[in-house]
Amino acid sequence: MEENQIAKSSSMESDIRILTSGGRTIPAHSSVLASASPVLEKLMSDRPERTVPIIGVPSDAVAAFVSFIYSRRCMGEEEMMERHGIQLLVLSHVYQVRELKRACEVGLAGKLTAENVVDVLQLARECDAPYLSIRCMKFISKDFKEVEKTEGWRFLQDHDPWFELHILQFLDEAEKSRKRRMRNRKYQRLYLQLNEAMECLEHIFTEGCTHVGPHDMEPDKKKGPCTSFSTCCRGLQLLIRHFVTCKKKVPGGCSHCKRMWQLFRLHSSLCDQPESCKVPLCRQFKEKMPDERKGEDGRWRLLVRKVESAKAISSLSKRKRVDELDIPTFIPN
Ligand SMILES: [Zn+2]
Ligand SMILES: [Zn+2]
Ligand SMILES: [Zn+2]
Repeated sequence: MEENQIAKSSSMESDIRILTSGGRTIPAHSSVLASASPVLEKLMSDRPERTVPIIGVPSDAVAAFVSFIYSRRCMGEEEMMERHGIQLLVLSHVYQVRELKRACEVGLAGKLTAENVVDVLQLARECDAPYLSIRCMKFISKDFKEVEKTEGWRFLQDHDPWFELHILQFLDEAEKSRKRRMRNRKYQRLYLQLNEAMECLEHIFTEGCTHVGPHDMEPDKKKGPCTSFSTCCRGLQLLIRHFVTCKKKVPGGCSHCKRMWQLFRLHSSLCDQPESCKVPLCRQFKEKMPDERKGEDGRWRLLVRKVESAKAISSLSKRKRVDELDIPTFIPN
């Protein structure tokens, strides 16, 4: 909005002039300026001569600033941010025009590049613009290889090593939390797979599957594969048959038998109907369990709790073949 439009936009005559760097003045209404900016309000009340200097930035930027105050939006926002985004952020900070400050933070955050991000970050810090700061930090952490090569970064290293350290610490934290998230996701997947194995175990020893069934029921040869056959039941049945026929067994150090033994134990830890349960070893483990509760096996209890909660979200399970399951790797350190 041009100066004369600003003056025309109100039925009142302009009663104040804004003095800018190039000697250009912009007519305005003190009531409009005062309602938008507490700082301008104070400034005007201290100056009976009815001019307010806004200097130190190009007069075009001041005109854009005043235009925003009148219209509550940036006219030609894209172009305005391109040309004056940085100055508008400074002005909105200094004169406390909150709406404009928010618009500048969003506008500048959308125009970050490896070349400008360090300068914008420093400005965001000086202007107390947390949203923009975070966006800059995230940009740097995503594209650090490019940012590191820029003049802005080298300048920062030479002139503000504390701030450089602050940024590097942020990058380090971001990397750690990314790894933590990935690790949690990995464990969550594994707990879901274990939960599926528990469901299959019950299904095999309750209704029977293709090759293994409860002790009081002959396996039904005509039975087709169940819905979990390829992801879990097939491998689990092979493992059960191995467990029954293996010569080495757990004491002999057989890793397959050990895995099966742990799956039976996990079932027992989760089973709430041991009296009627047909899963082998369920009751034997239950009877031994009070000793375990007392003592050393906190990690096992953690595993049991995690599988219990995975049950609640088992519909999200991404499946994995049961013959790849290895219980010790499911227990976080
Ligand atoms: Zn099955
Ligand atoms: Zn074995
Ligand atoms: Zn049971």
